[in-house]
Amino acid sequence: MRVAVVGSGPSGIYAADALMAEDGVEVDIIDRLPVPFGLVRYGVAPDHLSIRSVRDTLNKVLQKPGVRFIGNVTVGVDVVPDELLDFYDAVILTYGASSDRRLDIPGEDLDGSVAATDFVAWYCGHPDADRERFERLIPTATSAVVVGVGNVAIDVTRVLAKTVGELDHTDMPQHVLDTLASSGITDVYLLGRRGPAQATFTTKELKELGELLEADVIVDPAHVDLDAASAAAAESDRAVGRNVEVIREWSTRAPEGKPRRIHVRFLSRPVELTGDDRVRGVMVERTRLTPDGGAEGTGETEVIPADLVVRSVGYRGTQLGSLPFDEKRNVIPHEEGRVLDGSAPVPGFYVAGWIKRGPTGIIGTNKKDAVATVASLLADRDAGTLPAPARAGEIDAFFLDRGINAVTTAGWDAIDAAERALGAERGRERTTIHDRAALLRAAGD
Ligand code: NAP
Repeated sequence: MRVAVVGSGPSGIYAADALMAEDGVEVDIIDRLPVPFGLVRYGVAPDHLSIRSVRDTLNKVLQKPGVRFIGNVTVGVDVVPDELLDFYDAVILTYGASSDRRLDIPGEDLDGSVAATDFVAWYCGHPDADRERFERLIPTATSAVVVGVGNVAIDVTRVLAKTVGELDHTDMPQHVLDTLASSGITDVYLLGRRGPAQATFTTKELKELGELLEADVIVDPAHVDLDAASAAAAESDRAVGRNVEVIREWSTRAPEGKPRRIHVRFLSRPVELTGDDRVRGVMVERTRLTPDGGAEGTGETEVIPADLVVRSVGYRGTQLGSLPFDEKRNVIPHEEGRVLDGSAPVPGFYVAGWIKRGPTGIIGTNKKDAVATVASLLADRDAGTLPAPARAGEIDAFFLDRGINAVTTAGWDAIDAAERALGAERGRERTTIHDRAALLRAAGD
């Protein structure tokens, strides 16, 4: 059995690994980028070394006999999903949620207002990142507002508030470190539209904000006043209780006069970005919690000065070609991992990871998820319901015919070695090569 996995992030690689437990299975993991690992490479913050080290585990799967990485191939452009079934018995879609959700407020598209997905892509060295934009915005900004209180917002805030000395050991490209070194940002405002008990960050990540070398964390005690329902949640849910405890401790701290400040504000929602040729401020409305756990405006507003606004309000999945798509939830509809068109399964197509269940959970969540999808695929194989590929084993010839310059596992290994060598020149374990042409050169074209 030959299976194509579309997307080489954790869910795709975990799916391949689950398939490897079977005899006689070959898996090609196809990615539009010349390098594997998806958000482990381009999402996990470079200073979170232990989380990033999961790529060693993922890399071991890529090196298994029977698994091939096929990078630099865009499904939907170079090959359409239906064509893949000419070559493979089944296709598992694991292409994640790479787009951003919007705030839908006036001024959102002003210069200086950026999606966290774009900012994270830039500091991780993603080949499609708009380098010029951040090299222009960051050195000229003094005050940044980060909207949202999830773990991505925490990552963004930490990267903006850290000194370059605190980031220098990472695999961030040199131009990113240079730009962050020239940052004029002294104040970062982190905005949650609900209270601390409703925030989606995790305590370990949250705590780091209070431990930075040159940034004080500032919380108004009024923002940690919990209503009865939040107090009950903090009491009954240990994770919520720990978050509230950390924020409460911060609210008692006297600022140490560090050169940067992180202002954490809750019950505050942006209603407009103001500015001229560039964003200059965020009009924020004070909110109160509603009985159903939502937030409603109180009409009380203030403007926070901001020449950089990072909208960190979640990732969003997008449709691939004409494959079924749930426009409301931005996921591919499925039943136990089998892609559904209405209520009928689409033979041969499966889904796992963020494009299956939405952008939530930790990396490990994708393992269980991928294993469950693979169980459905194997059951269908055993039941004989997989479509038979007409051109099994001919995908390499097909790519050659179309003039597609696919990067193989050997090409990725060469990129990996080149990144380690580049890092070693600067006394680091690795430095990310950010430029697509340079990645292809390192892969040996
Ligand atoms: P997230 O946890 O869903 O957080 C999104 C945040 O945006 C929430 O605070 C949400 O508030 C807020 N929001 C949404 N719409 C808004 C609006 N219109 N106005 C104001 N605020 C709005 O998503 P994420 O931070 O992008 O993270 C995605 C996933 O990756 C999560 O599962 C996260 O844990 C994971 N991740 C983990 C790590 C780590 O473990 N170190 C690092 C990064 C990401 P409401 O709750 O009020 O909607």
